[in-house]
This record gives sequence, structure tokens and C-alpha cells, in this order.
Amino acid sequence: FQHFVLTARDITSLKEMEKSLRDAKEEAERASQAKSDFLSSMSHELRTPMNAILGFAQLLQYDSDHQLSPTQDESVDEIIKAGNHLLTIINDILDLARVESGKMSISIEPVEVSPVINEVVSITQPLAKKRDIKLIVEDRACHNQFVFADRTRLKQVLLNLMSNAVKYNREGGEITFTCHVQNDKVSFSVKDTGIGIVEEEMDSIFEPFTRVPSNDIVEGTGIGLTLSKQLVSLMNGSISLTSESGKGSTFWIELPLVDTPDSLSGQWYDKR
Ligand code: ADP
Repeated sequence: FQHFVLTARDITSLKEMEKSLRDAKEEAERASQAKSDFLSSMSHELRTPMNAILGFAQLLQYDSDHQLSPTQDESVDEIIKAGNHLLTIINDILDLARVESGKMSISIEPVEVSPVINEVVSITQPLAKKRDIKLIVEDRACHNQFVFADRTRLKQVLLNLMSNAVKYNREGGEITFTCHVQNDKVSFSVKDTGIGIVEEEMDSIFEPFTRVPSNDIVEGTGIGLTLSKQLVSLMNGSISLTSESGKGSTFWIELPLVDTPDSLSGQWYDKR
């Protein structure tokens, strides 16, 4: 085969190329770090006044000396609702910045599945009812089962999938939440009868701030699924979906099963 002879000039220009590639990589890392730092400090700064607005609005409602008129009471309700919504977005941005900069702390332990499902279902039920959506829960297979997870983060991920299933569903549609155990994994799935996602968009919806253009009649930020994917991966699990445009989508996550919990002795035996 052919031999190449490198001259001193070639070597110098190769070295220069290597240096400029290294500089570009460092520059990209600095920019990415600056973006995470900015998102993180901005969301911190926004959280404090937002908490104050919510706190004072709640004080207004519970001030027993001055009864609010029904219209005033409704207005304060709206302030609290909008404030809580904004706080959720701020917290999501903060979480995303933490994950991206590797500063998200997560505490993995055996978590009983059923109580988490019950909480998620009871939060989703009123949202579904507002849109006349029927919520079906098939979780019998998961009674008395435990997964290795961070309880708060697991709830956050499931709530995100459920709230998407409400948001992107049709009025009067259905959501089926299923939990089952398969080999050494617990699988949670959320199936909706909504607008669905076209195949070309399926990968991109996990990218930060990405929204399916045809679905953007519904309000959103495009952070939820990015964060969910990162959190599930930090919990050693996986997230996937199937979808048919115009018919609906199914998202599911899989997490490691805890085998034979011995709650009396506090010992947990992990089959992996
Ligand atoms: P958001 O809902 O705030 O926009 P997400 O990250 O949760 O952000 O979702 C990203 C995008 O994926 C959404 O904007 C929507 O276009 C699409 N999507 C998510 N869940 C569903 C679903 N169940 N059905 C149809 N489209 C969905």
C-alpha cells in the first residue's frame, strides 16, 4: 500500500489544526457551561419573587378580617394558578440546567410502586375530567412491587407523561396507564388517544425546547420530555414511545425491579 511522507510543514499545519480543534472544543464547552450557569441563576432569581407573589396571593384569600368578593376571590385564584404554572416551568428549567451541568443530585433507593401510581393518578384525574377524558388504570401486576428510583423524580416523570397525555389528547378521549413487571424491570406505560406524533419528529421531541410544529396549538415549553429522558437515564432506566399521527401515542419507561424486598430487616436484595 501507499506510503505518505510528511514534511515538516505538513506536521506544523497538522499541529495547528489540532490546536484549533482543541480551542473550538474548549470554546463550545465554555459556551455550554455559560448557558447552564445562566439558566440556573436566572431561574433562581425568578423563583424568589414568584414564591412571594404566590404567598401574598394566598394570604389575601385567607385573610379572615377582610372577606373578598366572589370576583376578587376568582381573580386571586387565577393569580395562584398562573403563578404555580410559571413556577413549574422555572423549576423545569432549573432542573434541566442542573442535569446538563452534571449537578443534578439524585438519590436512588427501593421505592414502592403503588403509592406513587396512586398519587400520580389522583393528580391527573381532575385534569383529565376537565377535558372529559376517561382515565383507565391497570396496575394490579405492580402491587407490592418496588423499583430502584428516586421517588420524587419518578413521580415527576410519570406526571409529565400523564399531563402530556391529557394536553395532546382529544376532548372526550382516553388515557390508559399500565404497570407491569417483566424479567428484572418494571414498565410503566401511558397510552393516549390524541393527536399523535409523526415519525420524523419522534427523536427530536426529546431534544431541549423542541415542539412538534403541528402540535403547537397546545401550550408548552418543550422541556418536559428532555428532562424526563435525562432523569430516567440517571435512574438507570429507559424511555421510549410509539405513535400514530391522528390516533394517539404510547410512552413508556422501564426501571430496574427490586427483587424480594425484606422490609423488616431493611435489607434489599437486587437481582442484577
Ligand atoms: P411541552 O409539552 O411542554 O411542549 P414536552 O417536552 O413534554 O414539552 O413535549 C415535547 C413535544 O412533544 C410537545 O411539544 C409535543 O409536540 C410532543 N408531545 C409530547 N407528548 C405528546 C403526546 N402524548 N402526544 C402528542 N405529542 C406529544
